[in-house]
Amino acid sequence: MTLTQLAYPRQEPESTGEDIRLRNWARNSRLGLPGSVVAPVSEAELCDFLSSGDGPVRMIGSRMSPGRMIEVANGAGTLLDLGGLSGLLSSTEDTVTFAGSTPLAEVYAFLTARGQTLSASPGVIAEQTLAGALSSGTHGQGLGQSSIAGDALMIRMVLADGTVAEFDRAHPDFGAVQLGLGSLGVITAVTLRARETVIYTCVKKAVDAGTLEADLETWNRENLLVKAWWFPQENQVQVWTANGASDDEVSRYRAGGSELLEHESTDATMNTTVESTLRLLRDDVTGVADGGKPLRTVTRFRDFTDVTGDVYQVFCRGIATPQINVEIGIPLARAGAVIRRIKDWHAETRPRMHYPVILRCTGASDGWLSPSNGEDTCYFGFVVYYSADGSLSEEGNSFLRAVERVLAEEGGRPHWGKYFDESLYDWPALYPGWEAFRRVREELDPQHRFATAFTAALLD
Ligand SMILES: Cc1cc2nc3c(=O)[nH]c(=O)nc-3n(C[C@H](O)[C@H](O)[C@H](O)COP(=O)(O)OP(=O)(O)OC[C@H]3O[C@@H](n4cnc5c(N)ncnc54)[C@H](O)[C@@H]3O)c2cc1C
Repeated sequence: MTLTQLAYPRQEPESTGEDIRLRNWARNSRLGLPGSVVAPVSEAELCDFLSSGDGPVRMIGSRMSPGRMIEVANGAGTLLDLGGLSGLLSSTEDTVTFAGSTPLAEVYAFLTARGQTLSASPGVIAEQTLAGALSSGTHGQGLGQSSIAGDALMIRMVLADGTVAEFDRAHPDFGAVQLGLGSLGVITAVTLRARETVIYTCVKKAVDAGTLEADLETWNRENLLVKAWWFPQENQVQVWTANGASDDEVSRYRAGGSELLEHESTDATMNTTVESTLRLLRDDVTGVADGGKPLRTVTRFRDFTDVTGDVYQVFCRGIATPQINVEIGIPLARAGAVIRRIKDWHAETRPRMHYPVILRCTGASDGWLSPSNGEDTCYFGFVVYYSADGSLSEEGNSFLRAVERVLAEEGGRPHWGKYFDESLYDWPALYPGWEAFRRVREELDPQHRFATAFTAALLD
């Protein structure tokens, strides 16, 4: 089977009695054979397990990535469920150390209770584990920060031979370990830099997309955190710009028990766009998948209001529902030209899109394999939802393939934890640190115990 055929697998029905850890969260891939899961409850137990054998192993977090990133090679080997290695390990005034499998939600809740936050703004959900998020380059938005790994000060791993190694920012291989694709070792602890919480007011606007090519960079240069959803068919954008809230807004937020404060005026200018997008979504998604969650991800753009809250309350509000999500990073300096190209391509081909293009920009990352390595980057995200029967519409499928080709031609780098067609990319040309990463992998895992068929095809 070629890697390309693996790209958008069908979602399988739930089967009662099956160990859910044997499939990824979207239930579109099998990760290992029945009985292949081992769940150590301490780092010492994990070290013993790895030092006493030499078979293939693969780590599972919340299993939210495509199956090819998580499955054990050829289905034979051990899936390491690290759920037992979770929770706070230690903290200082401005750092926190969590076990690798701690869900991000727990990290964020701990920091929030101390009046702190990460510099890295969150993605749309916080169900991922810390180790899983680091390993795939999970990110949010804002040019003043980068991916979540950008806040890591120290990463501790158990290596393939069962020995323990710690990597801090001064270590020459830190750039590899920050985003290791699950291919270097088992992350058991991460120390993160913490800073004082900022309360933001997020202003939401619906604007014409006619000048999006220039507007996107301007919004990002002039505001702390920016997220935009572009509806090419309707030539409209909903843009959120978040900056420090005024004293009055902070007082009102605190008076409300520090719950997300919704401002009074609502804006209905996008309601017609929402209705036409919903029509397309209903046509493509036969049957009500996942209790109607895909529809709710679109209705949220109706009647929107400005809000005041912390970064998690404002941005971490995603509705997690199985989908095929393609997200490609483009250097910010080229994002305007790429928007122009997508506009031309859209006008020519009129593809069916049942979800807007998601635009999030981040600052440069020092992770060698981060899609934002070395430069400010704009991530272009495209979503197609599954139908209730687990299929994807033919139109959705062909739209994703076509748009990914456009972005790959423009030098795009795909998000490792989402779907992409690997045949479109020349990795050593895209990543100056590619060969150095491969060398680190040879040193840390010379027998490639952590390889999946997919990472082996990429890295061997
Ligand atoms: C609904 C949804 C919303 C999302 N939103 C965003 C978003 O806003 N921004 C964004 O950037 N991404 C987003 N993603 C992508 C998501 O963040 C990544 O897929 C992430 O890797 C998932 O973390 P996980 O804990 O599920 O890891 P898994 O998917 O279980 O694993 C990911 C990789 O990490 C490895 N791994 C797991 N645990 C360890 C460990 N202890 N040590 C070493 N390697 C390990 C695995 O082997 C695998 O290679 C989203 C995904 C979904 C499904």
